[in-house]
Amino acid sequence: MSSFDFDLFVIGGGSGGVRAGRVTASLGKKVGVAEEYRFGGTCVIRGCVPKKLFVYASQYREHFEDAAGFGWSVGESTFNWEKLIEAKDREVGRLEGLYRLGLENNKATIFDSRAELVDAHTVKIVKTGQTVTAERIVIATGGSPGMPETLAGHQYGISSNEAFHLKELPKAIAIAGGGYIAVEFANIFHGLGVDTTLIYRGMEILSRFDGDLRRGLHKAMEKKGIRIILEDVFEKIEKRGDGRLAGTTLKGETLLADQIMFAIGRRPNTANLGLDRAGVELDEKGAIKVDLYSRTNVPNIFALGDVTDRVQLTPVAIHEAMCFIETEYRNNPTSPDHELIPTAVFSQPEIGTVGMSEEAAAKKFPEIEVYRAEFRPMKATLSGRVEKMIMKLLVNAADRKVVGAHILGHDAGEMAQLLGITLKAGCTKDDFDRTMAVHPTASEELVTMYAPSYRIRNGERV
Ligand code: NDP
Repeated sequence: MSSFDFDLFVIGGGSGGVRAGRVTASLGKKVGVAEEYRFGGTCVIRGCVPKKLFVYASQYREHFEDAAGFGWSVGESTFNWEKLIEAKDREVGRLEGLYRLGLENNKATIFDSRAELVDAHTVKIVKTGQTVTAERIVIATGGSPGMPETLAGHQYGISSNEAFHLKELPKAIAIAGGGYIAVEFANIFHGLGVDTTLIYRGMEILSRFDGDLRRGLHKAMEKKGIRIILEDVFEKIEKRGDGRLAGTTLKGETLLADQIMFAIGRRPNTANLGLDRAGVELDEKGAIKVDLYSRTNVPNIFALGDVTDRVQLTPVAIHEAMCFIETEYRNNPTSPDHELIPTAVFSQPEIGTVGMSEEAAAKKFPEIEVYRAEFRPMKATLSGRVEKMIMKLLVNAADRKVVGAHILGHDAGEMAQLLGITLKAGCTKDDFDRTMAVHPTASEELVTMYAPSYRIRNGERV
């Protein structure tokens, strides 16, 4: 019989924390889970889920326009922001309930409170002042949007947190950043009819993606009417007498907007958690340092998900939680596998991708074959919409393995999931070639690109 109150105590009720708590409790262990805000964490409450609902909402304008080419006449359409927020909040509330239910059904104890470490085995429930002890502790407190604290007037800006609860839809918005969140929200706001400008410090948006797709998406966004400013950042933000914001950039331009949003990366939530009292080490960014099994330098304390700054994605946090359970409670040491993670950017058009970019593959392998198709999707023939899909496979010429697959276009995210399986399985280009096409689909291009569009040998395109 353990002398601790709990076998496992989890701080943070997001994707990683709830999974660790729920599954450990289902094994008959005594589990406590504390969450200071709402169960579900960033993904469910103010991230992936409400974002995707917003993406759907923002696509209807184009759907209505496209309908005419197929014989439909759609009457005048109007959009109601409050109704969308209300519906989104209802769905988020439902999902939050399911997260709690999963814990309750497995007899985990829920603490609706912030929790902080007192020492390596003791946790303080801040709301009540009660302390509890646990044999093992998991920190899964996630991250929060980074704001540019040194920028004059930064307090007038919002982050994605506030974007989900704006009282009214702005007429104009400027979004700073060139990553997932900035690009997705630029498309959302534009689709909902907001005059949208994206301002990014680098030479092209989405720095970690394949160059072809980055350029392709940039072009498509501009064609829709989103303004993209590159190689510039805000220098100051001022609030004008009429309540609007004026953002002055380093290059001297002034952008007028009703909201200015920052999406410049997320920071791990490690402040004031008592980690120092327990002796848990952080890295230079303030993220918790962990070994290959998500164990911190304190042997009974583990950390999962965004608080560890490995790969900031929901499925990664969940996977890390499952590996922790395998290792600690199923006697099967399993280290999370962070290789070949498929991912999507829910821009419009979408990006779906897995594996190396062309730039990275060309650096790594002496010779790569690039299979590339750019075409007008079938639906656009009748809708008349000017849009292009891009599909690319990158193949290591030495062993014919597909090392990267990249798609820009409708349902790219859905395709990336399946491409993820093929790359994980180590499929070669020949495996793709002998796979029958599904016709007529866009994805059939992936198995019908017989000859390389070009090769890159020792870094040179040939
Ligand atoms: P990202 O890391 O994707 O992008 C951050 C962006 O901000 C980059 O363009 C970066 O530029 C820029 N930036 C960083 N610091 C500054 C600064 N001081 N001034 C100006 N620009 C700056 O972070 P996000 O905030 O967009 O998203 C956080 C994480 O959430 C992502 O990494 C992703 O893992 C996850 N996420 C995933 C989604 C999905 O799966 N669809 C959707 C949304 C979020 P540079 O490139 O030059 O460094």
